[in-house]
Amino acid sequence: MREPIGLYIHIPFCTAKCGYCDFNSYAGHEHMIPEYGDVLLREASLWRAAARGRRIDPVFFGGGTPSLNPPEEMRKILEGLRATFDVAPDAEVALEANPGSITTEYLRALRDAGFNRISIGVQSFDDEELVALDRIHSGDDAREAFAAAREAGFDNVNLDLIYGLPEQPLEAWKRNLEEALRLGPEHLSMYALTIEDGTALARDVARGRVTPPDPDAQADHYEWTCERMAGAGREHYEISNWARPGHRCRHNLVYWQNREYLGLGAGAHSYFDGVRFSNVLLPNRYVELVGESLAEGGERRSMRHVVAGETVTPETAMADTMILGLRLLDGVSLAAFRARHGRAVDDVYGAVLDEFVANGIIERTATHVRLTPRGLLLSNEVFARLLPEPVV
Ligand code: SF4
Repeated sequence: MREPIGLYIHIPFCTAKCGYCDFNSYAGHEHMIPEYGDVLLREASLWRAAARGRRIDPVFFGGGTPSLNPPEEMRKILEGLRATFDVAPDAEVALEANPGSITTEYLRALRDAGFNRISIGVQSFDDEELVALDRIHSGDDAREAFAAAREAGFDNVNLDLIYGLPEQPLEAWKRNLEEALRLGPEHLSMYALTIEDGTALARDVARGRVTPPDPDAQADHYEWTCERMAGAGREHYEISNWARPGHRCRHNLVYWQNREYLGLGAGAHSYFDGVRFSNVLLPNRYVELVGESLAEGGERRSMRHVVAGETVTPETAMADTMILGLRLLDGVSLAAFRARHGRAVDDVYGAVLDEFVANGIIERTATHVRLTPRGLLLSNEVFARLLPEPVV
């Protein structure tokens, strides 16, 4: 049997748009929620034949804020997906949720519907930092959301945190992480704040209203985080992700292991049958175009809601395996690379890897190549060098 594929469901609705966010998410569109769920299932039906014979694991509802959907809506979508695809009985079925949008009762209903992992967008426990990030919840909302998840029976909980905010002292970041560790989630995703083009934060920085984050301070925060998490006995398994043993995020592992996934919903990305493609961004257009795709007979060639796609060349596939795989602290398996691509890692990347090894950024073991602790801080430089040469 071929390996399972991941299923990503994009729910693009948010109560308000956070200043730093460049995700495909929209405030003020909640009226679309019931219709959008129906259209998601229609889109799923378009992929039923292509996905026949493939197990689905994991299933991940991301956003946006999936937890804005009422529980009966989430149940409807999940049951529809199970009726359409061969979802593994023990699949990880996860959702992203924002503090302030979830209660114990809501989460119990999701547990009953089959969700078994929740990722809570805490970002910070400090109310002033949350205001600076335009988050609409408080630190107390975050604590209550975690307690609600536990009361509802979720025993696989991730917390998202952001460090390296403008002028954030290391001590302030330490307080956030210590508070997260006291709660004791199974998984922590911690990312440095980045300024993304087109966001309100980018405009504020450009106008001098906000000081941009200091990369040196972010590096200090990161190094302290790595040490603290090791002391807390958590596996540092990806550049920005830590887990208790047995709780690595199956959804993100699909990406990092360069495996196949189908993305459903507005702006969702897919990697399936050797092609990377993405759906139209705007929820209204997505709804219209899925209708047109169905009217055209649902052939893959005539999927109107799929607006961009590229067949992955052997060179790009190898680069993807390297760039995504080096995000994992285990690194890239030499044997798996050869089995998948028919070439040895060193045949393709030997010269550039030698250079990074000499600089202490990459290390070779008998079975893998991987980033060193210094390389974790310089990963983007490594990834840029591994990209295939542009075709001119
Ligand atoms: S809640 Fe998440 S997806 Fe929505 S605007 Fe804020 S950061 Fe973006």
